[in-house]
Amino acid sequence: MSFLTLDGLAKTWPDGTRAVRGVDLAIQAGEFVVLLGPSGCGKTTTLRMIAGLETPTSGRVLLGGLDVTSLPPSRRDVGFVFQFYALYPHLSVEENVAFPLLCARMPKDERRAAVARVAARLGLGPLLPRRPRELSGGDQQRVALARAMVRKPALWLMDEPLGTLDADRRGEMCELLRAQQLEQKVTTVYVTHDQDEAMRLADRVVVMSEGEILQVGSPLEVYDEPATLFVARFLGSPGMNLLEGEVRRERGVAVFRSRGSTEPMRLPVLAAPGPTVLGFRPEAARLDLEGPLAGRVVLDAFHGACRYLHVEGGFGRIAVRETATRKSAAGESVRISIEPAAMRLFDTETGRRVA
Ligand code: ATP
Repeated sequence: MSFLTLDGLAKTWPDGTRAVRGVDLAIQAGEFVVLLGPSGCGKTTTLRMIAGLETPTSGRVLLGGLDVTSLPPSRRDVGFVFQFYALYPHLSVEENVAFPLLCARMPKDERRAAVARVAARLGLGPLLPRRPRELSGGDQQRVALARAMVRKPALWLMDEPLGTLDADRRGEMCELLRAQQLEQKVTTVYVTHDQDEAMRLADRVVVMSEGEILQVGSPLEVYDEPATLFVARFLGSPGMNLLEGEVRRERGVAVFRSRGSTEPMRLPVLAAPGPTVLGFRPEAARLDLEGPLAGRVVLDAFHGACRYLHVEGGFGRIAVRETATRKSAAGESVRISIEPAAMRLFDTETGRRVA
């Protein structure tokens, strides 16, 4: 039985906005699940309904098998973390971390032990007597994390907690959160619009758009086997290359002919003939004198570890990942081939993946 179940959960605001449109989701005990999607897709509203901070228009929230839909937040044993907000400047690190336990009237000895445990885990021991102004920015963030994590509720709900941090800090905090999660195994639902954060943290990613769940899967599944064109575009930077065209049967085999491309591409799977979108990641494409796609490099974007060649042709525009050390290809005419095993096919009408 799952630990947290969302059963047809929906929220329509009084102005008629359908923020969440019948979400079904089963989360196992100890899982770290990330709700990922663009701004306005209903992530926060879903999280707030799980917390009990918003009343669903319809549907249920089950926690540990109990229907908690009508229970107030205080009766759900849920910890809610927004962005890691500022520390209390007049309190020491130890007092800052202990503060939530003090509010919960935990006895002093237990409090000290709990603070010592979380401080050891986050490497804060030597900093406990200091005041926030005596800490670096990174240390302050770790103290804020410790203060959030010192309690151990049945369920953590986190809404963009790393939102204000720069990229370096974000990476460091992701590692700490993940390590914390692996050790404590508190079931966590985490909201973000940042796919890197989702990929680093999640056991399973829930991709949302316009109040609906489009796909639930491991980070690798949602990246490599996107269920829809939206997921294919949303994940990856650059996103999946998508070519409009048609599947045909030619001499007994299934081939894809892209719009504007003269050469057919043999497909590794059986696919129904008709209008189709062919998807492939930039890392599945390579420059190849014999390749079926012909175009010109309109942008050569250097990314440090690699470079992305943006190529335009009759088929549209695609990105090809190349080694960082390759000499700049801007302006070159190129041909491209695609690794057959990495080809994904989508129905043009519905946007759903068919192979
Ligand atoms: P963000 O990442 O920008 O916070 P989100 O995916 O978390 O976005 P929600 O905050 O859940 O999205 O909002 C979903 C929809 O509901 C949006 O269209 C938003 O404008 C609307 N909405 C949110 N809160 C309210 C409210 N209190 N009253 C009316 N509409 C609201």
